[in-house]
Amino acid sequence: MDLRVTEIFLSIQGESSHAGRPCSFVRLTGCPMRCVWCDSEYTFWGGQKIDFDEIFAKLDGFGCKLIEVTGGEPLAQKNVVSFIRELCDRDYEVLIETGGYVSTEPVDPRAKIILDVKCPASGEAERNHWPNLERLRPEMDEVKFVVADLDYWAFA
Ligand code: SF4
Repeated sequence: MDLRVTEIFLSIQGESSHAGRPCSFVRLTGCPMRCVWCDSEYTFWGGQKIDFDEIFAKLDGFGCKLIEVTGGEPLAQKNVVSFIRELCDRDYEVLIETGGYVSTEPVDPRAKIILDVKCPASGEAERNHWPNLERLRPEMDEVKFVVADLDYWAFA
């Protein structure tokens, strides 16, 4: 099995309660959304199909037990469900940074969801998959809100 990948790198986690920890990032290619402030447009196209084994070899080489699967929208590729399960089987601590458009239901429960809830100014609030919020587990998942203004009436 393979995934279309934009980049794989080792860095320091910059967001969530895991900020400051060394973290390997697997940035997958493609996103069905178009948030107005997106800083990852370079992930929308291109990328490279890489076999799971090759990805695991690179991650094992980093020697870092925390991995974030991000994008783009990481859950938009169907093979990602198997990939996440295999990461968990390998005893990695796995974070999934998702834009909330795709259902988190099939994601391995050992992985932690970082749910980026799209606020009105993103231009994509109507595409939030609301059942994802009901699936959040307070003891391990997290939410992120990028807020540009106080125009909350847009939700009305
Ligand atoms: S969900 Fe993320 S990657 Fe996709 S358009 Fe929005 S900010 Fe960009």
